[in-house]
Amino acid sequence: MSRIVVVGGGIVGASVAAHLADRHEVTLLERGEFGGGATADSMAVFTRLRLSPTRIGQRLRDRSWRSYELMIDGGAVGFTRTGSLHAPPPGTSDGSADGDDVRDRYRTAGADLRALGVDARVLEGSLGDRGFAIDGPALFVPADGHLAQQAVVDRYVERARAAGAAAERGVSVEGVLADGDRVAGVKTDAGAREADAVVNAAGPHAPALNAAAGVDLPIRRTRGPIVELAVGGDGGTDSGAHPRPIPFTLFGDALYLRRSPRGYYVGEYNTDFDSGSDVDPGARDEVGAAFRQRARDRLRGALGAPDATLTAVDEWVGLRTVTPDGRPVVGATDRPGLHVATGMNGQGVTLAPAVGDLFARGFDDSDGQRTDGEDAGLLAALAPGRF
Ligand SMILES: Cc1cc2nc3c(=O)[nH]c(=O)nc-3n(C[C@H](O)[C@H](O)[C@H](O)COP(=O)(O)OP(=O)(O)OC[C@H]3O[C@@H](n4cnc5c(N)ncnc54)[C@H](O)[C@@H]3O)c2cc1C
Repeated sequence: MSRIVVVGGGIVGASVAAHLADRHEVTLLERGEFGGGATADSMAVFTRLRLSPTRIGQRLRDRSWRSYELMIDGGAVGFTRTGSLHAPPPGTSDGSADGDDVRDRYRTAGADLRALGVDARVLEGSLGDRGFAIDGPALFVPADGHLAQQAVVDRYVERARAAGAAAERGVSVEGVLADGDRVAGVKTDAGAREADAVVNAAGPHAPALNAAAGVDLPIRRTRGPIVELAVGGDGGTDSGAHPRPIPFTLFGDALYLRRSPRGYYVGEYNTDFDSGSDVDPGARDEVGAAFRQRARDRLRGALGAPDATLTAVDEWVGLRTVTPDGRPVVGATDRPGLHVATGMNGQGVTLAPAVGDLFARGFDDSDGQRTDGEDAGLLAALAPGRF
């Protein structure tokens, strides 16, 4: 049994703590509210839809989904199945050479997804029955949808506590304790916490704790602006009341739509790893008028409601934590005693169950003697040592 401090009570840290707590003395430290960071900012879509799917990514999603299914079936976590869709931006023609390229791309991606066990279809013609005034081609995965992410966090925190872990909020980690070369705990604003191992699950703030421990991993943050738009009146169209039950829809230009409680969320998806896009997670950021306008234009175009009155009822900018190869960083760093579970590349809600489970398996098998087959392959693919 080891004494382990997990830093960060988002969906990833909570999952790691829950998966370790049966066999170790775990303390989960969160400086704000559990689930109040990037996890709260998330669209919480569980999506298998990928234009370039990989076996590793799909194995991680399969593992996560098996855990989520148990939570959903047991009534602990809400899931709204909407399907997910990839489509060209409205107004781009599908009869053009570009349209044929897109169609081929969707066909190839659909075949690749099906080869990995995902039900994926290319839709042609009108997407009216999906709530849109646009035509295919579009790539559709019917099983996808969005989760109630706070319920997932709460469940993991409860599970960790039930197994004997301490889970404390309002405690800020300010640095690490050292015992020679080894990280021997953390310094916090509520005093020192000694530990045999520290897990950095601080999401967008992970680089600061890594730096405090002298660990340099290629992790950056990208902006995730969201605007929630409510449609006034009949939205200028007679094709159905708003909000309509649309699928989670990602357009080719990286704007996306999800149904929201009061209307629709419009966001932008960017996981490019470049120094120009890295942002300071401590700085407050605004969505901005230009994005708000793009969001309105996109929603009007997609719904076929050019004159709809759209009221911005909420907006925020969240942060994604990205790595050069698009895979999370999970496991022991080269500084003894410091481990990481971060770099979710915009998929942390989807991947948290698999990441927590794999982290714990890898931790309990630090000499690599017991994990084999898929576990070993996935742990190697996520290991910090790959950079
Ligand atoms: C706009 C947006 C939309 C997204 N949509 C999706 C989606 O549809 N599907 C999906 O799968 N993923 C999505 N994601 C990604 C997903 O939200 C993240 O990958 C996931 O929430 C990351 O969880 P985390 O636990 O690593 O980070 P966080 O939730 O940020 O948790 C880290 C926690 O650490 C705490 N912390 C930081 N520093 C310290 C410290 N020094 N001491 C103590 N505590 C500390 C923070 O307060 C925070 O609560 C989206 C992200 C954004 C921004």
